Amino acid sequence: MPRFAERLGVWGASLAELERWLLPAACLLCQAPIAAREGDALVCSLCRSRWRRLPDPLCGRCGQPAWPDLACRICAGWSEGPARVRSAVWLEESARQAVHQLKYEGWWRVAEAMAEAMRGLEPLTGQVSLIPVPLGPGRARERGYNQSERIAAALGRLVGAPVRTDLLRRVRETRTQTALTPEARQANLAGAFASAEAGGVAVVLVDDVFTTGATLVSAAAALRAAGAAQVEAVTFARAMEPIATI
Ligand SMILES: [Zn+2]
Ligand SMILES: [Zn+2]
Repeated sequence: MPRFAERLGVWGASLAELERWLLPAACLLCQAPIAAREGDALVCSLCRSRWRRLPDPLCGRCGQPAWPDLACRICAGWSEGPARVRSAVWLEESARQAVHQLKYEGWWRVAEAMAEAMRGLEPLTGQVSLIPVPLGPGRARERGYNQSERIAAALGRLVGAPVRTDLLRRVRETRTQTALTPEARQANLAGAFASAEAGGVAVVLVDDVFTTGATLVSAAAALRAAGAAQVEAVTFARAMEPIATI
């Protein structure tokens, strides 16, 4: 919804109240009323506090919670994948609902709450450019927007990093991944992305969910081939049993 109130000067305060009144007064996830002090948040603070952060220790590369000294079952086969991936929370209950609202229900401003949860992730330091994982044109048309782009935009505002949507593109649509094994996912995504010249750019890919990392591996390979100096990635959520159940 456009911010009418911000444009209207002296009327701003009362219009801001009106706008807030017109927005859903209940949390999108739990339907409890949202306190006025939480502004125009779509997700209440209680729901956000239920998003469970990943426990340490993590695999240094893919960010999966892991026992130190054991070979990581997620990233052992990554040759060209991102140097480091970090996710904010587990994909369960309320976090899963938030992703669903963002992806399938049109509530793109949920991305703001997700970006808040992601802001302290390690790759988001220094001079990096955020690159949302692109959708193919077909899926982008269906949805009306790219959910990863919405997360990247909110994150860029929070951490003061530029968002680059001009480099990476998806060169072919890939079929839905949910029923595929990790190996089949890798094959399904190989060559799915292409990147414009990215010489010297330090990149952090942004996506909503990390499942097996196949998407990030393929996107990272394209960016590296285009000369990116460094490729890391962040996601809002991480599937809990990427290999056993998906
Ligand atoms: Zn709630
Ligand atoms: Zn790993």
